[in-house]
Amino acid sequence: MTASDQLAGYIALQRLLDRRSALKKERDTPPEALAALRTQFSERHEKLEAARAQRYALQTEQATLQGEAEALREEREHFRKQKSQVTNMKQLSAVVSELDHVETQLKAKEERLFEIMQTLETTEGEITRLGEESPEEKALREQAEAAWNELRAASEVELADIERELRIVQRQLGETGMNRFKKLWTSRKPTAVVPMEGNACSACHGDLRPSLVQLVRTAEELQFCDHCRRLLYDPEQFHTNP
Ligand SMILES: [Zn+2]
Repeated sequence: MTASDQLAGYIALQRLLDRRSALKKERDTPPEALAALRTQFSERHEKLEAARAQRYALQTEQATLQGEAEALREEREHFRKQKSQVTNMKQLSAVVSELDHVETQLKAKEERLFEIMQTLETTEGEITRLGEESPEEKALREQAEAAWNELRAASEVELADIERELRIVQRQLGETGMNRFKKLWTSRKPTAVVPMEGNACSACHGDLRPSLVQLVRTAEELQFCDHCRRLLYDPEQFHTNP
């Protein structure tokens, strides 16, 4: 294999690896519009869940308090009857004290019940305002999800093609050629093979000696940038594939 063939193989590898990492990024990053729809959906969903949980807790407390208040009212009735039947001052003061105690407890429960009723009204309002997503919103979100799935499937197909092409180039380069590339790649990834840009290196933008520029153009041996040690090639000779 000539140096020029080897260089062509390395350039192909670099381009395939570039395309592969771009595709992987594409596949793993949902479009902004979809991400926004997902966030909107999950935020609303969370708020709704929280409001429903609050409503449930309030309703439970309300039911308990209503039962307790009802029992206290019965007790109050009982003491009121007793009060009308007392025969001496001692009995009267005992019943009055019991009545006061019941009244205080009942008042506290009724106040809390009133508070709960008000909070429940606010919570109900919030649940209605948040609502579930409308059919239009749902359709929009599902469309965006479907489009994204299609895009991802296409990326997967192209990724499989690239893996196949990579294996072909690797076979062509052979073990020695691949070991050399791996060494270069390990220290310079994700860009190990770079085109010249005029008389400079396109990666580090360092100026190249005129003699080096000439050697890169003739491509009889592999040539490296003096500054960043990346493998150089002449873009005029090795055109970028579309
Ligand atoms: Zn350089």
